Amino acid sequence: MTQAITQITILGASGSIGRSTLDVISRHTDRYKVYALTANTNVDALEQLCHRWNPCFAVMSDDASAVELSARLRDKNLATRVLSGDSGLLQVVEDESVDCVVAAIVGAAGLIPSLAAAAAGKRVLLANKEALVMSGKLFMDTARENDAVLLPVDSEHNAIFQSLPDCLTKHHSSVKITNRQAKTGIERVWLTASGGPFRTFDAARLHDVTPEQAVNHPNWDMGKKISVDSATLMNKGLELIEAYWLFDLDIENIDVVIHPQSVIHSMVTYNDGSVLAQLGNPDMRTPIAHALAWPERIESGVEPLNIYEVAKLDFEQPDMERFPCLRLCYEAIKRGGSATIVLNAANEVAVAAFLDGEIGFTDIAYLIERTLKQADIVEDVSSLEGILEADAMARIITRDGISKIPSQRARHEHNT
Ligand code: NAD
Ligand code: MG
Repeated sequence: MTQAITQITILGASGSIGRSTLDVISRHTDRYKVYALTANTNVDALEQLCHRWNPCFAVMSDDASAVELSARLRDKNLATRVLSGDSGLLQVVEDESVDCVVAAIVGAAGLIPSLAAAAAGKRVLLANKEALVMSGKLFMDTARENDAVLLPVDSEHNAIFQSLPDCLTKHHSSVKITNRQAKTGIERVWLTASGGPFRTFDAARLHDVTPEQAVNHPNWDMGKKISVDSATLMNKGLELIEAYWLFDLDIENIDVVIHPQSVIHSMVTYNDGSVLAQLGNPDMRTPIAHALAWPERIESGVEPLNIYEVAKLDFEQPDMERFPCLRLCYEAIKRGGSATIVLNAANEVAVAAFLDGEIGFTDIAYLIERTLKQADIVEDVSSLEGILEADAMARIITRDGISKIPSQRARHEHNT
């Protein structure tokens, strides 16, 4: 029997997850066809990808980049049509010829198209964790009501998904562990964390780390924002919130454990004493291939794990004093309402300011905590408009906080 070709839209195609997805697809062109590719403003990157993949559509964030890309593709006689902005993203997500959407835009910018993919009942490969952190219940309800097939790409959530019993994962748009805990015997899930590049740093050293050090992750090769999030442990906190919504868990049943080798990608503990885990080399092509082909399996290009080379697996408790972002995530999810939206927005603004050299590394957590204290936390976050409003307010408060911190550059110049 011949396999039907799956038409794929990749949101954030020029990024780390986008490129890893294209690498997996390149090994299976008999199964997958690229329908649309999107990028923010990097015309060169999307031009190259259009040459390689010849998609029906390409989408840039702004009109000027779209006009530029369109002219370049026309010169080369490529038929790809170029669109721009949210309306362009919605078109390539919702089109009825699209079967699968890879949601790999970084940050809040990915919320609208990721949610639209769920609303259109697509197979959604979710990497854009910030979308779920912002819209949790709305996103899960939308996926359920529209029969979307929601598959986690984040390696920890993909590992948990792989370690759950089939009776739960066959309802892939609503893996409700809480309701079915008695029958399945699930006691807790463990999110593993590498600990990032500063795992062993004391508070004084953390104070002085640079953006260059922060984006240099020991195990994973990722975009800049998630690399900084890994260094502050905010990434693990966002993943805690992601797991809470994705698997409908009580927060008390999710543990974070530092595992510096990044070989165990997460675990599930059962009431008979079993602990099921998914292991592998730290390479995002594994969870991407799993989510692309589920419930089948396809080759991903990832080297097989050599357990003799790994030899040793270490586990440590996270230190929430040196890494307060993780504590702030626990607090925000317990607070509920718009607290996780505010936390996510404050983090995005603070991380961008850190990468620009405006603030120091430890200012990131300080600014998030300050914003959470100053923002109005509203209880009703059931509409997209309400979510975007809470996000916008939190960004204003965080920018105000940044303006009150003496600039890093000024501090540096003062000290030298
Ligand atoms: P990246 O920075 O490498 O790529 C981000 C992509 O989003 C790029 O294509 C960029 O053009 C696009 N983009 C950025 N801002 C945009 C905007 N305003 N509008 C439209 N497009 C925009 O990031 P990444 O590392 O690939 O991460 C993407 C998402 O996947 C993030 O949410 C991240 O948390 C998640 N994730 C990444 C990894 C990883 O290993 N890289 C692992 C797990 C989860
Ligand atoms: Mg992860």
